[in-house]
Amino acid sequence: ENQILNILSADTETEAPVINFPISQKALDLCRSMSLWPMTFGLACCAIEMMAIGMARFDVARFGAEVFRPSPRQSDLMIVAGTVSIKMAPLLVRLYEQMPAPRWVIAMGNCAISGGPFRYEGQYGIVEGVNKLVPVDVYVPGCPPRPEGLLEGLFQLQQKITKKRWWPMPETESAGAEHVR
Ligand code: SF4
Repeated sequence: ENQILNILSADTETEAPVINFPISQKALDLCRSMSLWPMTFGLACCAIEMMAIGMARFDVARFGAEVFRPSPRQSDLMIVAGTVSIKMAPLLVRLYEQMPAPRWVIAMGNCAISGGPFRYEGQYGIVEGVNKLVPVDVYVPGCPPRPEGLLEGLFQLQQKITKKRWWPMPETESAGAEHVR
């Protein structure tokens, strides 16, 4: 009972509540990993592929992460999908800080990972990697990554939270299909 009271009274703005019973922590991690709430947050072209995972074809609801929230205070997952400009950087950090702990970040696409094609074009207004701003848990490379790639990133994050792999590798389109990039 005391453990539950501790959780309810924890200051989620600072740190996640710590539970001493290993079994309880495992159950909590499982619940968190299977009900990730991503923030509605897209920065460039990669965001179109991110939106696709919410549609019927890829159906991220199967894995508990379909509840995209319009507020950072209701989110525990930030998917940085697209190019991070220097002008956007302080806003991204502010949004991250407004998310309650525990919180996670997926860097989706080459722009979010390293600046993507822009770093080679002498751009002066691009952040070359969102990990310079916030801690990144999973990197999903590609320009853009396919929705299956983002699903795999979600699975990797669930694995990181629970220390267990829950789903097989997402199936990609058959080789030679017109959708393959
Ligand atoms: Fe666009 Fe490619 Fe950058 Fe994604 S990685 S935001 S697709 S340029």
